[in-house]
Amino acid sequence: MKLPEHIVLANVPTKIEKLERLSNSLGNINIYVKRDDQTGTEVSGNKVRKLEFSVKEALLNGCDTLVTCGGIQSNHARATAAVAAKLGMKAVLVLKCDKNPRLEGNYFLDKVLGAKVELITPEEYTANINGVMKNIKNELDSCGNKCYIIPEGASNGIGAFGYFKAMEEIKRQEYEMGISFDGIAMSVGSGGTYGGLFLANKLYNYGKRIIGINVSNNAEYFQNKIVNILNEAVNYINKEISYSIDEIEIIDGYVGKGYGLSSRHELDFINKIAKMEGVVLDPVYTGKAMLGLTKEINRGKLNNMKNILFIHTGGIFSLFPSANSFQL
Ligand SMILES: *Cc1c(COP(=O)(O)O)cnc(C)c1O
Repeated sequence: MKLPEHIVLANVPTKIEKLERLSNSLGNINIYVKRDDQTGTEVSGNKVRKLEFSVKEALLNGCDTLVTCGGIQSNHARATAAVAAKLGMKAVLVLKCDKNPRLEGNYFLDKVLGAKVELITPEEYTANINGVMKNIKNELDSCGNKCYIIPEGASNGIGAFGYFKAMEEIKRQEYEMGISFDGIAMSVGSGGTYGGLFLANKLYNYGKRIIGINVSNNAEYFQNKIVNILNEAVNYINKEISYSIDEIEIIDGYVGKGYGLSSRHELDFINKIAKMEGVVLDPVYTGKAMLGLTKEINRGKLNNMKNILFIHTGGIFSLFPSANSFQL
């Protein structure tokens, strides 16, 4: 299938590993991990795959400045800062935070990578983040720059192709490894990763279950958001897809204390998996999602699947600011 154009930024294919001891502890099911935390160092995580398509669109439009947004520890904002520096572009990041943030984790890297950071309150962010980014664009454009706005998480039609392409990569790896994954699981924070995988799975008739575990909001919110992403994406490739909204399988119940907030139990789980498998998950996304996945399996809710592929979507840098919350 002919996808929109992209630039090459991610270190792919990322490897797929079996989590032997975790799988054994869960009984008759094999858990594999796709190491998208290893898409690169500065660009580590899932966002760089989306940026390959978004930033290509920016370049095709003659833009020289990337404007995007996220939480103070946003992995997406940090990856955007890294990509901008790599390509000789400018990055403006609008980050939400309550008070004076500590210069640590992703926020520290944003600054190291030379991004311009604008801080806004959570209230302002929720009320009007897209308006704030448009104002920044208007102001900078009037001074001779040309800005391209990337929405939160690069989760829109164009960004979704990053994971459309990742689905093709998974299919090749299945062939090489002689394995077939019944389900692909990942955390859902803004829906673009899910959307891309879902779209490729549909258009290629792969017939896999695509299982998202939301780390904010609720299942219904993300089903609607993902429908919008899919509608936008199919326009780029002149295709139609038919599906029922129930096929957008989002498992709610693992947000915990709220987006970006961790419970003792969640941090203990991250510690347990790290010791068991040598794989470090992050507190905001992958820790919650993997905890949710294992709980669902233990409750017998994901029966009749033999092989599940979990996408490790990254987040390593946001682990360090939460070091003091761990009980080690
Ligand atoms: C952004 C992010 C996610 C969520 O992906 P979406 O495409 O936004 O749903 C998951 N894990 C990590 C580490 C992320 O940074």
